[in-house]
Amino acid sequence: MTMRMLEGKKGIILGVANKRSIAWAIAKASSDAGATLAFTYQGEKIKEKVEELVKTLPGTSPVYPCDVTSDDDLARLQENLRQDLGSVDFLVHSIAFADRKDLEGIFLDTSRKGYLLAQDVSSYSLTALSRMVAPLMSQGGSIITLTYLGSERAVKNYNVMGVAKAALEASVRYLAVDLGARQIRVNAVSAGPVNTLAARGISGFTEILDHVAHKAPLQRNVEIEEVANASVFLLSPLSSGITGEVIYVDCGYNIVGI
Ligand code: NAP
Repeated sequence: MTMRMLEGKKGIILGVANKRSIAWAIAKASSDAGATLAFTYQGEKIKEKVEELVKTLPGTSPVYPCDVTSDDDLARLQENLRQDLGSVDFLVHSIAFADRKDLEGIFLDTSRKGYLLAQDVSSYSLTALSRMVAPLMSQGGSIITLTYLGSERAVKNYNVMGVAKAALEASVRYLAVDLGARQIRVNAVSAGPVNTLAARGISGFTEILDHVAHKAPLQRNVEIEEVANASVFLLSPLSSGITGEVIYVDCGYNIVGI
């Protein structure tokens, strides 16, 4: 991507765990498109890894601690962003978590604790982060989140995460309505399967990759750069008339019947 679609824009990206993270692909594409970026990490053990990656981008990007289940962390993040960036034009929410035992077997066996954990980290966090960042988007803005087809189809082993993604996509629509008058847009990118740390936690993930490569209209799996490029489009003024949508970047897999 060579077009400078995000020239002069400032963004915060949550969800970089390593160089395979979708958030990192979005970071590289946003930086190439001219954006100034800030990042977060969860937990000290990942701090160094994120800082090392961020150093490879041009310019300097602040990196802040943030566990999205902590209201204190979110308040501190808002303060840090206000101090260091002043205003923010976009936010990337690329975060999900569920207990590994809830990503195998049957959904029927999901515990209350496992259900609430998946919802808290993977769905409610979008609402909490939108509330945190909206006051910093005085000139309008764009918020995106990452979702998956398991929100609307029963995908083997995806289980509790599918239900969390359904709530996440509904949140996108409600947040789009709440923030629309402030010209803040909220959209989701529904990515096809990509081999990342989070994906490897889903039992049978390789089978999903094989299945999609055979069934998708484009006869292959999506490249992480394709997910990142569509994300940059949604973050940029080129998508200024789009809000509350779920955009599929999955080589067309979601449209196929038999
Ligand atoms: P990833 O690299 O493992 O990213 C997941 C991120 O969520 C990690 O940075 C993780 O940080 C973070 N996270 C988990 N709990 C957190 C918390 N309490 N506070 C803050 N951050 C937390 O995997 P990914 O595949 O790129 O996932 C990014 C998003 O894309 C997720 O929403 C995922 O559901 C979605 N998605 C993925 C695929 C796919 O096939 N990979 C397809 C469609 C959608 P730690 O590692 O430090 O916990």
